[in-house]
Amino acid sequence: MKTGSCRCGNRIFFNNTLCLSCRATVGRCVPCGALTSFTARNDSSACDACGTAAFPCRNQRYRVCHSFITAPNELCRWCKFTKVIPSLNRPNSVARWAAMESAKRRLLVQLDQLGLPPFIDKLIETHPLAFEFREDSVDMNGQQQKVTTGHESGLVTINLAEADSVHRERLRVQLGEPQRTLIGHMRHEVGHYIDWAWASRIARDEYQRLFGEPNSVDYGQAMCRHYEQGPPADWSTRHVSAYATMHPWEDFAETVNVYLDIMAIATTANEIGGRSLDLSPTADPSQLVAGVLEIVVEVSEYNFDLGLAPLLPEKLHTAVLEKLAYVHCLRRNITID
Ligand SMILES: [Zn+2]
Ligand SMILES: [Zn+2]
Ligand SMILES: [Zn+2]
Ligand SMILES: [Zn+2]
Repeated sequence: MKTGSCRCGNRIFFNNTLCLSCRATVGRCVPCGALTSFTARNDSSACDACGTAAFPCRNQRYRVCHSFITAPNELCRWCKFTKVIPSLNRPNSVARWAAMESAKRRLLVQLDQLGLPPFIDKLIETHPLAFEFREDSVDMNGQQQKVTTGHESGLVTINLAEADSVHRERLRVQLGEPQRTLIGHMRHEVGHYIDWAWASRIARDEYQRLFGEPNSVDYGQAMCRHYEQGPPADWSTRHVSAYATMHPWEDFAETVNVYLDIMAIATTANEIGGRSLDLSPTADPSQLVAGVLEIVVEVSEYNFDLGLAPLLPEKLHTAVLEKLAYVHCLRRNITID
């Protein structure tokens, strides 16, 4: 993730709310986009990067947002994407909501920087993206109402329990999904959104060649088969994950997830790792992936030193690289009829 700087010169990272050197308030200025420090004035603050009078996003009162905007008592552009939030009466729910918003903001900033949906053309109006963070509940008849994480016509629903690391870790092991993280969920669901809003509309033939024709595979049957029989033994020769083998839609979403992981690593490597990887739409995708996999091998080794999981798979097969290249090259072709 790109970093910013405080007026004292200290580097500011994505999650900072306070400069650890001079104690200045820091956050993201929405008008200029910078991660920067803010100087208090009488009834507002001033962005130290662009000088604009800045007010905290309304969600700062719950400590779920670090953004500053031009009007008081309103939501920032990132918080506006969330249509349903959990109950504010339960401190635990608010803490989980904060984790959701942090992951969501990290993802949206990335999509914006890469010029991916919804931040292209008029897509944000024609195919808006929205999030809802819901909790399991019990209805009037005592029946458990489970919230299913998923995407439907631009609406991403995430079960708030996914922000609970114990719950997530249990499912990660149970379902054999090594990369099950909060931001991973968001990247996967946004993958479905990018499919629905964009990819399958602008580059359909290539999509079908690589991922298959989604409408020719009954989703319900595919899901039953996946959970009954598991993935084919040689899944890694053609798919980024075991889950991607289930259905063309899941294959595409998982590929987007890994593409965004790779681009996030590449951005951080350029920002603080001294690399100079070309992240532009015209960059050669195989060179870009190779550059990132070098980093993955190194960082995974640090992780193994501490008994942690690998960063990403250290090798990707040709068929997988071709799918990642497809997602990358979508960024070159942003025209929508
Ligand atoms: Zn400072
Ligand atoms: Zn600013
Ligand atoms: Zn906000
Ligand atoms: Zn999915």
